[in-house]
Amino acid sequence: MRDKQLALVTGASTGIGLELAKCAAEAGFDLVIAADEVAIESAAAELRRLGGSVQAVQADLATTEGVDKLCAAAGSRPIDALLANAGVGLGKAFVDQDFQRIRRVVDTNITGTLYLIHRVGNEMLRRNSGRILITGSIAGFTPGSFQAVYNASKAFLDSFSFALREELRDSGVTVTCLMPGATETEFFRRADMMDTKVGTEKKDDARDVAKAGFSAMMSGESDVVTGMKNKLQTTIANVTPNEVLAKQHRKMAEPGTAKS
Ligand code: NAP
Repeated sequence: MRDKQLALVTGASTGIGLELAKCAAEAGFDLVIAADEVAIESAAAELRRLGGSVQAVQADLATTEGVDKLCAAAGSRPIDALLANAGVGLGKAFVDQDFQRIRRVVDTNITGTLYLIHRVGNEMLRRNSGRILITGSIAGFTPGSFQAVYNASKAFLDSFSFALREELRDSGVTVTCLMPGATETEFFRRADMMDTKVGTEKKDDARDVAKAGFSAMMSGESDVVTGMKNKLQTTIANVTPNEVLAKQHRKMAEPGTAKS
């Protein structure tokens, strides 16, 4: 009999993913954690201090080869929880963005995430047991002018998560969508959005967001939007025309909207 469960967390080097990995370690999971850069090793060292084994994998999850590398490194030990969290943003007007970076948003947030969930999800289904947490976003509720591809990628993930959950309803595998609002992480700096209102205003705490997501996954809930402000925002977004939402998004994400 296995004594400890195993959680695989992607994008665990910083931000929400690192905090999700801490939640899993504190709940007694062994960990396989992944990110693209070498910082995943220092995250692993930090997580090992919480007890349990931690295996760090450096892999580019925008590629199928990177996902294959991660799955191979995880080995034959069953994955009890998959926290598919790795993602990147991209600010500025669509026509001004570099196409390679546009493609990387799609490849990381959508293609790589789907491929990983397809591989691990099939294995979970064979055992009829497992938990999947997908980090979507409340951005998926709003056409994201000046962050257009990113918001569309999160709309994809939010939608996909609910659909997959329904398909697996009669199985022992649960699917939960974590939909954070703007959260204090490396995200906005990496997305070149430090000249915007959303990039510079006060944001939610990554630890609080991760705790809510982890707890929702453990109780098998369908989704979680963190914080009252974000809950209100999604409720309003559901009854507001997309054209109006896109106009409002410009006010937060257009370059030059940063508070001085
Ligand atoms: P973050 O601090 O920038 O963390 C992103 C993580 O994803 C890092 O560990 C990064 O590792 C990893 N990653 C990115 N591209 C990768 C790739 N191609 N292959 C492997 N790893 C990759 O940002 P975060 O805010 O915590 O973002 C985590 C998730 O939350 C993302 O899916 C994001 O869309 C979502 N989210 C964020 C916010 C927010 O306001 N921050 C709001 C809603 C949803 P490397 O540095 O090694 O690339």
